[in-house]
Parts: sequence; structure tokens; C-alpha cells
Amino acid sequence: MKNIQNSPITKITFNGYNILIKRDDLLHEDFNGNKARKFHYFFDNEFPNITKVISYGSNQSNAMYSLSVLCKLKGWEYTYYTNHLPSFLKDSPTGNYKEALKNGMNLIIGDYDNSTFNINNSTLLINEGGAIQEASYGISILADEITQYIKENNLKDTKIFLPSGTGTTALFLQKYLDCEVLTCPCVGDEIYLEKQFLDLEVDKSLHPTILKTSKKFHFGKLYNENYKIWKELKEQINIEFDLLYDPIGWQTLLFYKDKYDLNNIIYIHQGGVKGNITMIERYKRKYD
Ligand SMILES: *Cc1c(COP(=O)(O)O)cnc(C)c1O
Repeated sequence: MKNIQNSPITKITFNGYNILIKRDDLLHEDFNGNKARKFHYFFDNEFPNITKVISYGSNQSNAMYSLSVLCKLKGWEYTYYTNHLPSFLKDSPTGNYKEALKNGMNLIIGDYDNSTFNINNSTLLINEGGAIQEASYGISILADEITQYIKENNLKDTKIFLPSGTGTTALFLQKYLDCEVLTCPCVGDEIYLEKQFLDLEVDKSLHPTILKTSKKFHFGKLYNENYKIWKELKEQINIEFDLLYDPIGWQTLLFYKDKYDLNNIIYIHQGGVKGNITMIERYKRKYD
């Protein structure tokens, strides 16, 4: 697969702030955002013994879909475990679920734990959301692209912002960048995120800075303010963001406008727009 590196950085003005956006949503048509970065390692290397990938998580996950692209390309069997599949999705598949099925994913619905997975040396087990050490390979390339941009444009005191799920992307970015990485938790709270960081890196001095969200958000739940800021972004800057993480990210960033110079931020667009379809339908039904 070609062109999974070097996405553009564009200047936008949102609510009066001049912010740079790293457009990782434009990395590649089928394989974009931070999941492409996390799984880049598997594209660039040969795994002669591997025939099968196992992963698990939610039924509309971006990681679930991106792994289906990887497995199709590699000719690997792909089994994905999820606790629950709503009947509307089963009856008429959409979004990441639909695309992953098309790529040959075997979905297993029900309870699971580590003992459920039948792992041997021809199986690759990928943690939920791609929270794996191998993610550092592609994220270091992302960091190099940012560093290059900062140098070429002579930027000073730039900070990076991105919303976190598992925190894998933020953590490895901070590891490979000289500038400060700011992030906020979207799944669980800052204590959960700190724990996720510790699982990947024991040295706390290498962790990104966690910005507490202005209020508690339950992941995947509908919030009118999330829908509003998502629509405002689309209207003002004509960029579609993901609906699960980015609305929380943008609100948190704006909440800290007095603490950080928002005109000196590079915001990482981490893709995930394919997964928006079901969220948009739910939002329209509730608020439009
Ligand atoms: C997966 C994902 C995240 C969270 O990434 P982590 O590395 O798990 O923190 C954020 N935004 C989008 C759009 C994603 O798909």
C-alpha cells in the first residue's frame, strides 16, 4: 500500500482562532486516521508465519474497520469479538461495520475474555483500539512529518492537541516530538487515561499533558453541544470531524483558551469519519 504517509497541514480559522490541522483523515481512502498510523508497522513488514488476526471492541470501531483493510490486503483471516450488536445494525449494516464485513471480517457476538481467544504462533492478537507497542512505528512517522513542518515554517512554541481514547496516539507522539502534546480523555476520565499511558510507558515524564474536560461525557452518548460544535466546524471550516472524539476535543481545547495560546496549536485530525453514519442518524433523530 502506498501513500500512507505525509498528510497535509492546513491553516483554518475557527471561532476567531488560527489553528493548524494535520489532515490525517486524508492519508488514504481506505486506510486513514490514527488507525492507519497504528497499523502501519504491519503493512511495512512481512509476517510469514501469521495467517490470522484476532481483535475485539465495539461494533462500530474505527480500529475494527482498519484491521479489516489490513487483513484483506495481507490475505489474513480476521475474527473480531464484540459484546453486542443492535438488531438495526444487524438487519441493515452501515458504516465501519458494513465495510468490515465486506472485507471479510468474521464477527463473534457475545462475552469474551483473554481465554476465549485461541492464540497460537500463527495468530496476531490486537488489543482493543490498537493499543499496542507496534503503533509506535507509524506514530513516529507522523511525529517526523510534524517536526519537519515546524522546522520548515519556523514555528515557535507550537503545541500539539488531539483527543484520546486509549491514549496510544498521544503517548507515542509525545515520545517522538520535542514540543508539548496536549490531550483530553474521551473514554473514561483522566485517571483512566493516565493508567493507559502507564501501560505503554512507565516513565511519567514522557507522558502527554492531560487536559480535564469541562464536564463528564459518557463515551458514545449523544450530547447536543457535541453535535453543535461538529456542525459549526463543518460550516466554518468545511472539514468533517469524527463525532465521538473530536467534539469533546474541540470543546476542551476552547475551554483552555486562557491557559494556552490557541493560535499556536496543531490539531491532529485522526480520521474516523466513516464511522459517523450511525452517529449522524442518531443525532438527527434526537435534535434536528
Ligand atoms: C481511535 C480514535 C481516537 C483515539 O485514539 P487513541 O490512540 O486510542 O487515543 C481518536 N479519534 C479518532 C477519530 C479515532 O478513530
